[in-house]
Amino acid sequence: NCMVDQLNASARANHEQMVELDRLYRQASEALRLRDEFLLVASHELRTPLTSLSLTLGTMERKRQSGREASKEHLHRARRQVTNLTGLVDDLLDVGRIRSGHLELQQAPVSLGSLLAETIASLRPLSPRHHLTLELPQGETLVKGDETRLTQVFNNLLDNAIKYSPEGGVVAVKLTRGEGEARVSVSDEGVGIPAEQLPELFERFFRAHTTSAKSFGGLGLGLYITRNLVERHGGRIDVRSEVDRGTTFVVMLPELREAQREVAFPPQQE
Ligand code: ADP
Repeated sequence: NCMVDQLNASARANHEQMVELDRLYRQASEALRLRDEFLLVASHELRTPLTSLSLTLGTMERKRQSGREASKEHLHRARRQVTNLTGLVDDLLDVGRIRSGHLELQQAPVSLGSLLAETIASLRPLSPRHHLTLELPQGETLVKGDETRLTQVFNNLLDNAIKYSPEGGVVAVKLTRGEGEARVSVSDEGVGIPAEQLPELFERFFRAHTTSAKSFGGLGLGLYITRNLVERHGGRIDVRSEVDRGTTFVVMLPELREAQREVAFPPQQE
């Protein structure tokens, strides 16, 4: 009997090992499949702006050959296409840095109100068909952070709000303070995100049904990078959304008080 028990136990252990191996195998296959799919999407996303750029340059070359000057409009278009491409490649590089733990922050006190005002001012001329509004509290809101990276966070959220909402829509940014926290909400009146997809929203390569069906370009890296940057600043990001109504992202960052500011950043010796 004892022997039979031992055999049974070892068969069970073998079976459990097989189940575990099978699970690992499936996980690895899924990871490989995702990587292949990503390579395909990424190549396609990079190819599209390259094709446009190539067409624009072709037009400019033909104009030159026929003795005409390339128009300012063509130059602007080429510049925009290069900017798009740079953005995609920068996102890919950032994901690499995040995954390998090499994304470094240059921390300093940052005035969040000024940062938001500047970010919005630079986006307004690029999105004349949306109403970008900004609401700020009294006084300065300071956080400790990397100004360039925090600008990237709000640029990503605003880019999405504009991209996934109709012309004429309001994109509202609001900064508030309370309980040692600065809160920035970015709301749009756009397509929204289905509730069942919200849990995956901040994963790499995620793209919602609502938007992929309408063939918006994108790699699904922006929100992954955004959440990582917010968390690296000791903050959190939250989202509420209703399909066909709109989406609100809220970024919460620890507020830097005057007293902490002195400790964290002692006044420079002249
Ligand atoms: P990308 O926009 O390049 O696809 P993101 O990581 O920025 O990548 O966003 C991932 C997905 O989340 C988008 O493809 C879109 O489906 C959805 N999404 C993000 N922001 C919004 C928004 N403001 N409104 C509706 N859907 C959004």
